[in-house]
Amino acid sequence: MQNSKIWLSSPHMGGNERKFVTEAFDTNWVAPLGPNVNGFENDLKLYQKGDVEVAVLSSGTAAIHLALIQCGVVAGDEVICQTFTFCGSINPIMYQGATPILVDSEPETWNICPIHLEEAIKDRIDNGKKPKAIVAVHLYGMPYKIEAINQVAEKYNIPVVEDSAEALGSTYKGKKCGTFGKFGILSFNGNKIITTSGGGALVCQNIEDKNKTVFLATQARDEAPHYEHTSVGYNYRLSNISAGIGRGQMEVLDKHIGLRREMHEFYVKQFKDIDGVTVFSEPSDEYYSNHWLSAILINPLETNGITREDLRLAFAKVNIESRPLWKPMHLQPIFKDAPYYGGKVSENLFEQGLCLPSGSNLTDDDRFRIEKVIFKIFK
Ligand SMILES: *Cc1c(COP(=O)(O)O)cnc(C)c1O
Repeated sequence: MQNSKIWLSSPHMGGNERKFVTEAFDTNWVAPLGPNVNGFENDLKLYQKGDVEVAVLSSGTAAIHLALIQCGVVAGDEVICQTFTFCGSINPIMYQGATPILVDSEPETWNICPIHLEEAIKDRIDNGKKPKAIVAVHLYGMPYKIEAINQVAEKYNIPVVEDSAEALGSTYKGKKCGTFGKFGILSFNGNKIITTSGGGALVCQNIEDKNKTVFLATQARDEAPHYEHTSVGYNYRLSNISAGIGRGQMEVLDKHIGLRREMHEFYVKQFKDIDGVTVFSEPSDEYYSNHWLSAILINPLETNGITREDLRLAFAKVNIESRPLWKPMHLQPIFKDAPYYGGKVSENLFEQGLCLPSGSNLTDDDRFRIEKVIFKIFK
């Protein structure tokens, strides 16, 4: 008999999600506005703690799109983006008809390298165009080098769009990810640390930006009894049903982060005596990762030739999901002509890296099955 599938990251309900969704039905707030939308925004605002405002939206990708629009990105502009990321970070640059400028990672946080970032900015300015925004990403929940990146961004006066889609609950020097950029992005897709089935949020630094975000997300209706429009709008608001799921998920978020961090500890223990395998961990205690996904690097030169594909296939054979790290955007056919600044850091990560089952809902039995595969391959 086939074992049940162990996923990388699957939805994990806390219990009260149904209560909020039922309330929405009982009160007929089956619409992209209502008490759950307001309540979820308030929960997120309190959770982010900084002096921020939150607008909930239909997806994290929509949040990035509205952030870029509010940074003034229009057709023909250039926008810098971390190459090592999920396509959701970069596609909104294309929606605006702008050109992505791709920048490599540094090896400590796997995120955008401040040195290559500055090199890219200088070169684009020399080429005649100053980038309009920088999309920096906290991949797998690991905060990027926030101070170094902000320093470069401030020096050239370019706004940072902080893609915190994978980093809800992560902190840098005790401050929540999503609150460091001009805009912060959150995602509540099905595989993220909390889910609303699908959804996202834009974290804003002031109420004016939040109001503008909601305006753009609800078809940009000017004030008038009829429908009056002076700008292009979008239908990007979150449903009151989905927001109800989000309110329930907020009650268990910190508990689930604790469980994801325990999965990371589990892998640290599994691999501690195996040469050539490193578990992706915080570079110092200034960084606190939610460890959305646990990830490892396998260097075949130090493992007697065992590769990440060997491990991935061994997992797949017994119905356990694992996945190579994000394939860098400059290697994607669709972005092959985009200007690229950097070396081989993200390419090496892609070659050697594997994401492992990381859900907060994994059981001792699941961990036992995972451990067996690791033992079989490496011992
Ligand atoms: C998931 C994700 C997004 C997009 O969020 P959606 O809600 O799926 O649209 C953007 N960036 C990163 C890094 C992500 O992981």
